[in-house]
Amino acid sequence: MTEPLTIAVSKGRIFKECLPLLAAAGIEPRDDPDTSRKLILDTNLDDVKIVIIRASDVPTYVQYGAADIGVAGKDVLMEHGGEGIYEPLDLGIARCRMMVAGKPQQAADTTRLRVATKYVRTTRRYYANLGKQVEIIKLYGSMELGPIVGLADLIVDLVDTGNTLKANGLVPLEHIADISSRLIVNKASMKMKHARVRALIDKISTAV
Ligand code: AMP
Repeated sequence: MTEPLTIAVSKGRIFKECLPLLAAAGIEPRDDPDTSRKLILDTNLDDVKIVIIRASDVPTYVQYGAADIGVAGKDVLMEHGGEGIYEPLDLGIARCRMMVAGKPQQAADTTRLRVATKYVRTTRRYYANLGKQVEIIKLYGSMELGPIVGLADLIVDLVDTGNTLKANGLVPLEHIADISSRLIVNKASMKMKHARVRALIDKISTAV
């Protein structure tokens, strides 16, 4: 029997949006992670497994070869750094923008600004490129609260419709990056399992 090919996906919206792409590659999961508690899903193909993990862990699994292939947001990839990973395909799903946001009356750069975000690495790189000194405060969620309670002057977060910012009296101020989900591949798997990985990329690419 051939070595299994393991695909890392996060549950919820990304998993659902990936189903038609996987189907185009002839892969159908045997379970639904939203109803099953299994972390490893069998598929219709004996040699293809799907592991269900947190979105922010997908690049790590792929980097270390615990998964050959994964689906990860560009936001998560930028924060991870992309070591040991190829990013051959933009899947065009879960599109949004990474933005700096703050109160509408936020002055540009009076003092050293405090920026709350879960994207610490990306935010540090963004301001370093601008040559601006900022203090970065790491949060794990609800960044929009930061400027309201005076924890931070600005936030860096994902924006889709802008409704979350608006509901909290914030406005988008600067565009950092366009975000969408990407297919990623472990660099060693790309060599060692080349034919199967290439075939999967080609079929998904056609479906995209
Ligand atoms: P919205 O109110 O439509 O602008 O959505 C913003 C909220 O949804 C923020 O809390 C974001 O972190 C989250 N969000 C928006 N788009 C995405 C995405 N593609 N992936 C993950 N989170 C997202």
